Amino acid sequence: MVSDVELFDSPLIERNGDTTQEKLKKGKPLLDPVHIHVKDAAAESVFALLLNIFREHLAEKTADWERLEHGAHGGDIAARELLEATLQHRWDVLQAWAQRLSIDIDCLQFFSIYLARPFRQQAARRLWDETQATCWQEGYCPVCGHSPVLGRLIGSPGQRQLWCCCCNTFWSFPRIACPFCKNQSQDQLGYLTVNEFASHRIYVCDTCRRYLKTRVCADESSKKDGWDYDRDHFSTVALDSIALREGYIAEPVWLAHHERAVCQ
Ligand SMILES: [Zn+2]
Ligand SMILES: [Zn+2]
Repeated sequence: MVSDVELFDSPLIERNGDTTQEKLKKGKPLLDPVHIHVKDAAAESVFALLLNIFREHLAEKTADWERLEHGAHGGDIAARELLEATLQHRWDVLQAWAQRLSIDIDCLQFFSIYLARPFRQQAARRLWDETQATCWQEGYCPVCGHSPVLGRLIGSPGQRQLWCCCCNTFWSFPRIACPFCKNQSQDQLGYLTVNEFASHRIYVCDTCRRYLKTRVCADESSKKDGWDYDRDHFSTVALDSIALREGYIAEPVWLAHHERAVCQ
């Protein structure tokens, strides 16, 4: 869904703000969505495309997708407004739409995360590259500030990469530390294994009770770009159920780091 077509109507970088390095060193994600405007036509075309994909692959929620489509056709909800509210983390606005259109809020949030994905991904391509990696020490995404949903251990001993599904960015993070609470005490950190998923582990933290699905890649050459994190994420949903059953907590995908203190 991501092309090189320009998706934004405004610059991605504030003129008088911190430089990229300053932001990263302060733990501030690079994409500041407050003043960002997306192109109407781009928002509408991604919205329509996504509705078709969701209708086909998440048919059990057909009634919600139909209500969303009717809302858009009837002028009750506009693709660009939904997208900008999502980029700006204005969840109260989404809540109001969900109530007015009788759409399940979880469905609307899930839809909106993927509606925003090509836009965040285009922003990520422009704002972030591997040369900046040494400036970023955090467990949340350096571009959009969301928590990782998947990790990879590459080589032996494994170098760890974390992946953000909101903007498709990956970054390095210490192997023995929790990305969610930064706990480094080894007796509070560990991993679960599941026979049917021999290439994966579920890394867990007994301090914050968060978990992270992790793909183990012994081959160093898999470090290069192009790893299909989405495929890995969706093909391991069974691991999420196992982690939850073991009493661990799924960090909400839609929750950015700066919102966590407010919502917890
Ligand atoms: Zn991100
Ligand atoms: Zn933790």
